[in-house]
Amino acid sequence: MELRGLSATGIKDFLQCQLKVVFRYDHDIQSMKNDHMKIGTAVHEALEQFTLRMQHKKSFPDESDYDFAIKTFMDIATEQGLEAMGFYEDGRVMVTEFIDRYDPSEEVISVEGFFKLTTPDGVPLVGAMDKIVKINDDTIAVIDYKTARNALTTYELKDDIQLSMYDYAASLMYPEYKNRILILDYVRINKQVSTYRTDSDREMFVDFLNSMWMQMGKLGEEDAKPRFNKFCGWCDYASHCPAYAGLIKDRLELPPLADMTDADFLDQWETLSAKKGIIDSRQRELKMVASQRFMTGDNISGGGKELYSTQASRTNYDVVKVAEVIPHEHLFPLLTVNKGRIDRYAKDFPDTKVALDRIAEVNYNAPVYRTRGVPEDENDGVAEQNESAA
Ligand code: SF4
Repeated sequence: MELRGLSATGIKDFLQCQLKVVFRYDHDIQSMKNDHMKIGTAVHEALEQFTLRMQHKKSFPDESDYDFAIKTFMDIATEQGLEAMGFYEDGRVMVTEFIDRYDPSEEVISVEGFFKLTTPDGVPLVGAMDKIVKINDDTIAVIDYKTARNALTTYELKDDIQLSMYDYAASLMYPEYKNRILILDYVRINKQVSTYRTDSDREMFVDFLNSMWMQMGKLGEEDAKPRFNKFCGWCDYASHCPAYAGLIKDRLELPPLADMTDADFLDQWETLSAKKGIIDSRQRELKMVASQRFMTGDNISGGGKELYSTQASRTNYDVVKVAEVIPHEHLFPLLTVNKGRIDRYAKDFPDTKVALDRIAEVNYNAPVYRTRGVPEDENDGVAEQNESAA
């Protein structure tokens, strides 16, 4: 397998499943994009072309700019073969709302800046950054657009490989700026989340890149094993993957629990977790198709069965209007306070944070069990510790 450079996507693939890396670098194997990827590509292209256009105009957008960006989105979406009609509307809304928020005073340094760099240790890096904006003489913001519905959490942002790659690439490309803010702009939900990397984070990331480059370089096509993971349902190469095909045909083997060794137990735990992720994502895709077909009045039936839908209702009350009806001494016991909104409030009014933390009541949910690797000789270590304690 010939590796020309390390990209954040390549690293993530390698950590998820080595077979996927082999597929990605095999030029004879076509990747199969799903509609989520296609809408992502079309929205990215529309935002990029719009930003480039506005860089020349340097004004607030007018109707022709909206038309231009939406046309760009539609052209790329159809060219990509986006099938789900609802996604066309989603894409148009994302592009329109992005333009509504456009700030012509933003000092854009680069749009869709491809990079091809080499680290001091000789590791070639490749990638592209959606937008780089100058914040002040010391600071730039590296912005990546996302079309996902859920934003990464603060902890996930800190660990994100793509953002670490951007931080490192921007530190080499724009050394005149001391600080880099890393921003994910979730255009579907109009939410921006940001993070940064310290010097020591960056040093560790460079060591990580060196090690990844070595590991990936050693990967031979014949050694690459498929590794089921929760993203298999979204894998561009699932249709080429024998393990995925096997999984779809597979029946669940459920040996008696009493006969299982701990190793069998952990093995089955991991396999079932990965399969559940794949099945869940497949079911989400089926639901999406069903809802689109229902919306157009198209039934799904065959083999003596048909799909039908029921809809649960949820009733909400406006607090202000309820307060006009129910006396306040009766109202308070009926209310619950949303933690997310309290957190946002405390961010806007930091003076309240300490008092709110003091009165917070923390309850724990049912435990969540996960597996992790342990050193082979950990039990020896525990035994030694116990003996020395005795
Ligand atoms: S479907 Fe899953 S196991 Fe198969 S190549 Fe893709 S990520 Fe790997």
